[in-house]
This record gives sequence, C-alpha cells and structure tokens, in this order.
Amino acid sequence: MQLREHAAHARGAPSGNRLERSYRQPAGRNQRLVLEELAAAEKPLKAYDLLARLRERGVNSPMTVYRALGHLIAAGRVKKIASANAFLATRHPASAVMICRICGFAVESPIAPGLFEQIFGDGASVDSASIEAFGSCGCDRAAGVPRAAE
Ligand SMILES: [Zn+2]
Repeated sequence: MQLREHAAHARGAPSGNRLERSYRQPAGRNQRLVLEELAAAEKPLKAYDLLARLRERGVNSPMTVYRALGHLIAAGRVKKIASANAFLATRHPASAVMICRICGFAVESPIAPGLFEQIFGDGASVDSASIEAFGSCGCDRAAGVPRAAE
C-alpha cells in the first residue's frame, strides 16, 4: 500500500488484518504536529529534519520532538526505520517498508495475515514486525511513469 493510499486508510477505513491495532489519536499538539509532518513527507524523516520543519510551527527543542516520537511509536502511529535512523508515519504494526535510494520515497505495505504462522508454526503469535527494504520506486524510469503502482 502506498503512503498516499495509506493516509486515506488511516482516516478510518477498516482493515481485515488481525495485526491491526486500534489507534489512539495523538494526545497533544506536539504529537499531532509531528504526525502531520511525517504523514505529509511520504518518506522517513530524521528527528532533526522534523525539528527543522516544525520550528516555524513553534517546536524548538529536540527533546520535544523525541518525546512526541516516543509517544507516537508507543501508540503505533510512527515506526522507526532503524537502518535509516529515521521515522515514518504508519498504521501497520507488522509491515514491510521499501525506501527508494534515489528519491527517498517510502512505500509501506502490511505483512500478509498468517505469514508468521506459516513461518513459525500455528502456535506462533507475532504482534509486531518490520521489514526494511531498499531499492527504486521506479522514479529512475522514463518521465511520467508513476513512482509506484497506484
Ligand atoms: Zn524513487
């Protein structure tokens, strides 16, 4: 699922994935600002990039950004992309993320229900997972070609 679709999905479309959680709304202004900025970016942002984008909206402290990120991660609204040391707005506790090495665009897709039972056996219960992949979203192809399947 592409992030643009993902944003529509996050606005309330129900999902059949049993790994989906019910998500709390961001509790405070700073969390809301951080989540809005990440959702608009459509790519992972480092904490200091977030801070630079949020200064004009009154967020001036790295600790404010890190605190908001911590709450949003705990609430399942933001995922840390460990290999990029950056953060991505998400709705899927179990997802695969492909990050374009050329333009930085991120495509997130929920991991198929039942995948972990297939891998680890019927008794397995995985409640959080992340797969990070890097490659090209297609932006390096001829002009006019969409970045990814839409
Ligand atoms: Zn790209």
